[in-house]
Amino acid sequence: MEVFGLIGDPVRHSASPAMHTAAYEACGMQARYVTFTPEETALEEALRGATALGIRGLNVTIPFKQTVMPMVAADPIATRVGAVNTITLGEWPPAATNTDVAGVERALAHHDVDPAGATAVIIGAGGAARAAVCALVDAGAEVHIANRTAARARALADELGAASAGGLETATRIEGADLLLQMTSVGMRGEASPIDTALLHADLVVFDAVYTPRETPLLAAATGVGATTIEGAWMLLYQGVAAFERWTDRSAPVEAMRVALEGRLTANERPF
Ligand code: NAP
Repeated sequence: MEVFGLIGDPVRHSASPAMHTAAYEACGMQARYVTFTPEETALEEALRGATALGIRGLNVTIPFKQTVMPMVAADPIATRVGAVNTITLGEWPPAATNTDVAGVERALAHHDVDPAGATAVIIGAGGAARAAVCALVDAGAEVHIANRTAARARALADELGAASAGGLETATRIEGADLLLQMTSVGMRGEASPIDTALLHADLVVFDAVYTPRETPLLAAATGVGATTIEGAWMLLYQGVAAFERWTDRSAPVEAMRVALEGRLTANERPF
């Protein structure tokens, strides 16, 4: 029996167990995916213990994505993003990467969106935004970052090579853009979009990292003006696909994982 898992807090409503379990079943693997919530002060002990027990791999979510960095051998992508979400156990320190970048790249590709040469506005400067900036800069897009805290956007642009950065008022660049990536947590509680939805237009692709609810107020507004929309669930799916492939060296059963994820997210949205 191979064991994989997730460390974070909270993890109770995570969709990852359903998605990875579906992959193991589709591939006929004898494997389990388990969630853990270690104390932050015992994080290194938890990783050493997991290694000693033969656990094969761990996903990492809030609040450990950055705090785990000194305890792992981060690859160049995780180092650029400044956060880890996938650890492969075995050696010490364990190898670690950030599959949120692949999550963005593959979600765009799934929707036949090629960012090369496109003008992209990214809202946010936290972990998800950092992954999106890496993906789009590497793909050859012209990237503009708009964040509530303008200084954070500017630091990110300098670090990762974006074309410009500023406060949320600079999101007016959306009017001439091809892509809009909403990478803040705004929308999780039904809040209105962090940007003025009057800026949306039919030639825009609108990608929202938030996946609960699946249709955020921003995506609803984008649909209303005839824009192409990409739900955050696609990023969640493809970061999981990339983690599965890294851990197992197999092609992931993407459709089985998608169906399981859809079922789990729908269950999350159902009122109790
Ligand atoms: P984070 O590192 O805490 O960053 C939060 C970002 O949201 C910052 O840019 C912050 O701006 C901004 N923000 C927070 N409240 C705001 C408000 N009221 N108005 C405007 N901006 C606000 O979080 P994260 O890890 O990047 O996650 C962001 C979202 O992406 C979460 O909803 C998370 O669930 C989602 N996510 C999805 C996936 C996926 O696979 N779909 C993967 C990773 C994350 P300041 O800098 O000004 O504080």
